[in-house]
Amino acid sequence: MRSNITVKIVGGPRKCNSFLLGVVFASVTWTVIIILYSRLVKESNLNSGRLSPQPSSLMVVHEFLPKDAHNKGNVEGEDKHQKMLAQLQPKKLENEIGMVRSLEEQRIRDQGYKNHAFNTLVSHKLGYHREIPDTRNALCADQKYPDELPSASIVICFFNEDLHTLLRSVHSVIDRSPKKLIHEIILVDDNSNLDNIHHEIEAYCKVHLPIVMVVKTPRREGLIRARMFGAKKASGDVLVFLDSHIEVNRDWLQPLLARIQEDPKSVVTPIIDIINADTFQYTPSPLVRGGFNWGLHFKWENVPQWNLENAADFVKPIKSPTMAGGLFAMKREYFEELGAYDSGMNIWGGENLELSFRVWMCGGHLEIMPCSRVGHVFRRRRPYGAPDGEDTMTRNSLRVAHVWMDDYKDYFFKVRPDARHLSYGDISLRLKLRENLQCKSFDWYLKNVYPELSLPSSEKESNRLKNKWQALDPGGKKKFQPWHARQRNYISQYQIRLTGSNLCVQSEKDVKTKGSYLNLQPCLRVKSQMWYETDRHELVLAQLLCLDGTGDTPRLSKCHEMGGLQEWQHPGKVETAIYNMAAGTCLGSDDPSKGNRVTMELCTKPTAAKWDLVVARKALEPTP
Ligand code: UDP
Ligand code: MN
Repeated sequence: MRSNITVKIVGGPRKCNSFLLGVVFASVTWTVIIILYSRLVKESNLNSGRLSPQPSSLMVVHEFLPKDAHNKGNVEGEDKHQKMLAQLQPKKLENEIGMVRSLEEQRIRDQGYKNHAFNTLVSHKLGYHREIPDTRNALCADQKYPDELPSASIVICFFNEDLHTLLRSVHSVIDRSPKKLIHEIILVDDNSNLDNIHHEIEAYCKVHLPIVMVVKTPRREGLIRARMFGAKKASGDVLVFLDSHIEVNRDWLQPLLARIQEDPKSVVTPIIDIINADTFQYTPSPLVRGGFNWGLHFKWENVPQWNLENAADFVKPIKSPTMAGGLFAMKREYFEELGAYDSGMNIWGGENLELSFRVWMCGGHLEIMPCSRVGHVFRRRRPYGAPDGEDTMTRNSLRVAHVWMDDYKDYFFKVRPDARHLSYGDISLRLKLRENLQCKSFDWYLKNVYPELSLPSSEKESNRLKNKWQALDPGGKKKFQPWHARQRNYISQYQIRLTGSNLCVQSEKDVKTKGSYLNLQPCLRVKSQMWYETDRHELVLAQLLCLDGTGDTPRLSKCHEMGGLQEWQHPGKVETAIYNMAAGTCLGSDDPSKGNRVTMELCTKPTAAKWDLVVARKALEPTP
């Protein structure tokens, strides 16, 4: 819950040499403080209830800003007033766990981003066990599962995974699963070559986790063959495949096993919650299902409305045309009977669509179990490639198209004409499998399982898809919702002033220039000093570009809406640190050799700058 307290003072003294006006100003100020204080007390009482949401650390107070910021008398008066207000505000920075406190911590963080593409400093500080929010639908708590359920072999493959993150994945499984349901946990090291990960994990499990079997592939296989390698060692009733950077949520396993017990041809997935790669914050995902496009990229899409008509539908199995691939469970015998995975696929990609098509076309079905939730660290890039640099996503997709898609593969080639002549290895065994299992046609699949998928009806439509595909980075970078496409929710408007000075944070270049650094300049009420704070804790200059805590020097970037380096915390409004959770550092300005450049500094540095957020009330004046 966010508290918005708006106090407006109409007009204001232009000159403060009038004694009378001064008295009026002082008494109005004190009245405001008393009102604010009493509301704050009331607010904190409301928030002390057990079921109340966390109050926001931000208290938005629109207050009087002297027209002439250089008038000393006014600044002092206003400072005193702001300090009084600040005392009423919460002092704690949120998620200090990400705060970089030393050069060594900085090194861990940088190295982690390089090797794993997530914030390992935060991950290490979280340890092997942590609480996460129970993100399930309220009805899930009342679900009853049979006492006797099939046993699970949990298979987790990893290549160069961060040790803490991997062990927290394993511990979360042990901590949040009924003991009798875990037959074994198999960790498959896909021939990692980073640090000493294999020996460390082996040594740890030997001493602390005897239920875990650690195996290593003789050479790098890629996730598809590594999973097959793990599955061959398994002996439980059900195989549960998980990624190596996950945390399972409360009672995640029972819904999966119960459904498979009920129907042995169900292949089931949890809802995949989001663990932020920069902050490790755990947030729920909405109930969405899997689809794909004609470039053979997996995509999330809304569950058709007729699937969700009443409250109980949110806890029942939801049919899904495809799955994301990282996390699912199926009966071990059924996995083998259905042809395991396509061992001709390399490293990463496409295997999720292959298995999805195969399940549906050969007599099974794919379902999401909404009461099972597992968090997954979504990274902005994959920190590894194929050893020979091969584009394995395209190669694997070609195998999918040629084995499973019949004539519909032409649509893939319309979108990906470049793929037509690439080699994809021998598929004869997979074609034979399809024949032996007497699988249905792709046409049947589209008509019965995924009628919502539209065909590119014309040449124009194919070209549109092709262009769209080409606009995407083939490396698989996610596209973000454009800034202008969403409702902006501004909660305040400030100038950011260095405490004890008349210097404010201003863009070096024009407010529209991406990549512009920030400098300290005399405070003036100009566009290039007007920062708008959004409900997502972004600081947006002149409602255009976001303050981005990249590297040593923050700069202006296009707002990407993913939090991380564009998310800023400040516990108060005066003499406050402005902390970037993902960078782990604070806004600073203390190195004269850099001129007046605004920098990112260790928050613990005694010289780290303190800031006053001077709330601007009046309409912007044009830049001179
Ligand atoms: N993986 C593997 N060998 C590889 C590539 C990936 O064992 O050559 C593992 C990886 O460590 C992870 C899982 O396979 O546990 C899925 O890979 P990743 O998380 O990179 O895929 P994403 O979640 O980005 O789709
Ligand atoms: Mn993953």
